[in-house]
Amino acid sequence: METKQFKAESKRLLEMMIHSIYTHKEIFLRELISNASDAMDKMYYKALTDETISFEKEHYKITIEPNKEARQLIIRDTGIGMTKEELEENLGTIAKSGSLAFKAENEAQDGHDIIGQFGVGFYSAFMVADVVTVVTKPFGGAVAYKWESRGVEGYTIEEVDKETVGTEITLHIKANEEEESYDEYLETYRLRSIIKKYSDFIRYPIEMKELERQPIEGSDETEEVEVVKTINSMVPIWRKNKRELTDEDYTNFYQEKRYGFDTPAKHIHISVDGAVRYQSILFIPEQAPYDYYSKEFEKGLELYANGVLIMEKCSDLLPDHFSFVKGMVDSEDLSLNISRELLQHDRQLKLIAKNIQSKIKTQLEALLREDRTKYETFYQAFGRQLKFGMYNDYGMHKEQVQDLILFYSAKEKKLITLAEYVAAMPEDQAHIYYAAGESTNRLDKLPQSELVRDKGYDILYFTEEIDEFAIQMLVTYNEKTFKSVTSSDLGIEAEAAETTDAQAEMFQAMQEVLSGQVKEVKASTRLKSHPVCFATDGAVSIEMEKILKAMPN
Ligand code: ADP
Ligand code: MG
Repeated sequence: METKQFKAESKRLLEMMIHSIYTHKEIFLRELISNASDAMDKMYYKALTDETISFEKEHYKITIEPNKEARQLIIRDTGIGMTKEELEENLGTIAKSGSLAFKAENEAQDGHDIIGQFGVGFYSAFMVADVVTVVTKPFGGAVAYKWESRGVEGYTIEEVDKETVGTEITLHIKANEEEESYDEYLETYRLRSIIKKYSDFIRYPIEMKELERQPIEGSDETEEVEVVKTINSMVPIWRKNKRELTDEDYTNFYQEKRYGFDTPAKHIHISVDGAVRYQSILFIPEQAPYDYYSKEFEKGLELYANGVLIMEKCSDLLPDHFSFVKGMVDSEDLSLNISRELLQHDRQLKLIAKNIQSKIKTQLEALLREDRTKYETFYQAFGRQLKFGMYNDYGMHKEQVQDLILFYSAKEKKLITLAEYVAAMPEDQAHIYYAAGESTNRLDKLPQSELVRDKGYDILYFTEEIDEFAIQMLVTYNEKTFKSVTSSDLGIEAEAAETTDAQAEMFQAMQEVLSGQVKEVKASTRLKSHPVCFATDGAVSIEMEKILKAMPN
């Protein structure tokens, strides 16, 4: 038996794993299962390219075996196995992908970010185990080897007996520490949930023995029996044909994934096979999560590389104005161990994000057309975010959202789109009129709007603070400019109001009394039943002024 040292890089990564304070240690299982799956893929590839090798699907599986007494967890596969050289090379040094993660170490001292976002492969086993044993027999080889390590001191390799080709990894689960219990990694129910969470879509069955209550034959009694169960569903829902799936299937997936607890307003199932290949299932929720309009809320989609979850919240996939969208993206064109920095610049990912954004837009427009009631429920929850989207980034995304926003119409007494407003404009109407205020009730009584109403023009009511700011960013819709009913120039041709001498005297007196508070007092044609009103010059309306004044500097 030989004892060998780890390469310097590996040693440091290992140290990081052993002392990791990372809260999602459970991902070690995902890493080991994904390696097992890769090893079987390699066999499959060999069989595809070599006629003399047959590939019997039933033979390929992953077995998970916990043993509480021995504090052991075994992960067994029937993959391609490793030769002695491969053992040394693969487990003694970090592969390319490993060194990538290693680079990121400098940025995140406790390894938190790296582990969380990409996993770091085989060494993650040391987050939960103090001894790791790998017994493996390579395809085409006669001898099997055992690799064993207790951590940074190094590892041993010796020849052992193993009948079948494949790899068996035994983790000796750490003893509980004061602050942390590791017992959970020996519990079948816990292992099952970790597998479901991260590896449900691995193409090979993941089997585990579980206790099941069964009736005893010939009696009314039941007994607990150990049965081998396949934990993963193997075919991901996103790879299935849309036509075979029901709304319920999508809702189940939404809830199983805990994307939300409501019933989504709409799902979008995308399968693209072009310059970039990906599948995606997206959901438009019906209700906003409780923290949606708070700093705590994190947008993002789950990101899979060929069926393996690599990131739980990939924010680069969603623009802010669609931050309410939930769901996942799976692409064969992404590598499993890609780092966050690289991912940000990934051309494929950018293409996917662009594509997704336009799909969401089209689908929201479809919902608006086809199910107005549902859209309004959605809008109730997320309309504010759409308007923020119009305002943010200097209005860069206004084209994306301008046809998705709704405002209350004074005439229709319901929410309408800008397109609907413009379509209903009388021929002589040049502008889109709006009134900003606290509530539709109060706006109904606004004196300044009398002339506009009298002309038969509709008025959009802005009752949220963001409304007027968002519209200012839009500038025009369909070449029509927006005008506040409180602005001094309504853009309506009207007879000039004549001022009598007596009035001029009174206006003069009023102006003196109100000096510094108003610019001018003058006769107006816009009033019918009210004696007096305010009007403003320029782009900032009275309501906006109030908001701006209330804002902290
Ligand atoms: P990665 O999977 O990104 O290459 P890992 O650290 O997870 O990095 O694994 C390192 C290497 O060890 C793998 O590339 C593979 O060659 C080898 N390996 C790990 N587990 C197995 C296994 N169960 N069967 C065969 N080879 C394995
Ligand atoms: Mg791996």
